[in-house]
Amino acid sequence: MIAPRPHVAALAPYALADPLGEGMVSLAQNESYCAPSPAALRAGQDALAQNALYPDPDWQALRDAIAQVHRLDAAHVLCGAGSMELIAALMASFVGPGDTVLASAYSYAFAATAVAQAQAHFVQVPELDLQVDVRAIVEALTPQTKVVFLCNPGNPTGTAIATSDILWLRTQLPDRVLLVLDQAYGEFLDPQQPPGDLFDLTTLGNTAVLRTMSKAYGLAGARVGWLYAAPPLLESIRKLLLPNNVTAVSQAMATAAMLDQDYMGRSVAQTIASRDHFCQDLRALGLQVPVSATNFVLVRFGSLQRAQQADQALRAHGVMTRTMAGYGLGDALRITVAAPDVMRRVSDVLRSLK
Ligand SMILES: *Cc1c(COP(=O)(O)O)cnc(C)c1O
Repeated sequence: MIAPRPHVAALAPYALADPLGEGMVSLAQNESYCAPSPAALRAGQDALAQNALYPDPDWQALRDAIAQVHRLDAAHVLCGAGSMELIAALMASFVGPGDTVLASAYSYAFAATAVAQAQAHFVQVPELDLQVDVRAIVEALTPQTKVVFLCNPGNPTGTAIATSDILWLRTQLPDRVLLVLDQAYGEFLDPQQPPGDLFDLTTLGNTAVLRTMSKAYGLAGARVGWLYAAPPLLESIRKLLLPNNVTAVSQAMATAAMLDQDYMGRSVAQTIASRDHFCQDLRALGLQVPVSATNFVLVRFGSLQRAQQADQALRAHGVMTRTMAGYGLGDALRITVAAPDVMRRVSDVLRSLK
């Protein structure tokens, strides 16, 4: 039988959350508990009838909607089948054997996979109290460093990096090092940030920003992400994307969802209110919960054993969360924020453990 290439044989299959049991609620993948915008559902229905045709290979309507809403240049936007596709193509474009990608200790797991697929080294720099330590990242730079990959806000920590820290980090990185800012949860942070923020950094040609429709917009199943960077970077990355990568239905849904900012803003506000209430309940139980700037919370139980006990009790009550041993945080569970009644069920189960 044919053998895979050695680096492929050495890859572990990518681990998503455990499959969901019958009747269980998933709080394991940070999906939105709000339905997609009604405008997105209508647009998706209309696009179904066009499915005999290939989609727009340039995602023009979606790029225009993104540019309009975020006050960006549509020519600097690239769309992917989820931001995962964009992360994989970005790594494959810029790193290979002998190169290093620096990330923080509790970085997004898929970034490590994309780097391994590209046969480069993924090096994780310690965090300070579950916060990205930009000074430690600068100290870890070597001549082999090609990319610094940061999630802001972070997954699985939920914590945000100060904009001033990111701007400082960029000044400390050599120009040949690409800074990638994965803002999958950016919409949950946007209300606290000055407009424009980090997209402006991309004009230097050494920074790329990633966003997704999977979280705040409730379109995880549609698989749409976007990347903002200078055109020379986009040209290279695009060569590694599949042509016609985003289906016509997904483009139509994402475009309508992007243009329905009121709906997205309300979903985000509801999620933040439910999250903050849930965090108060957890802290009242004496649990450690870092301040989250996302639609999930990392809950620390003090030991692996107590986290496992909580996981089992929650599963027994029909709730699946994400265990964190694979991230080196075995004492924690990552819990997606859902509607207040679901979160009350979770805090009731955790209270009963005490
Ligand atoms: C959920 C998530 C993504 C989004 O991936 P998609 O492929 O767009 O669904 C990207 N980065 C991080 C850190 C995430 O948590």
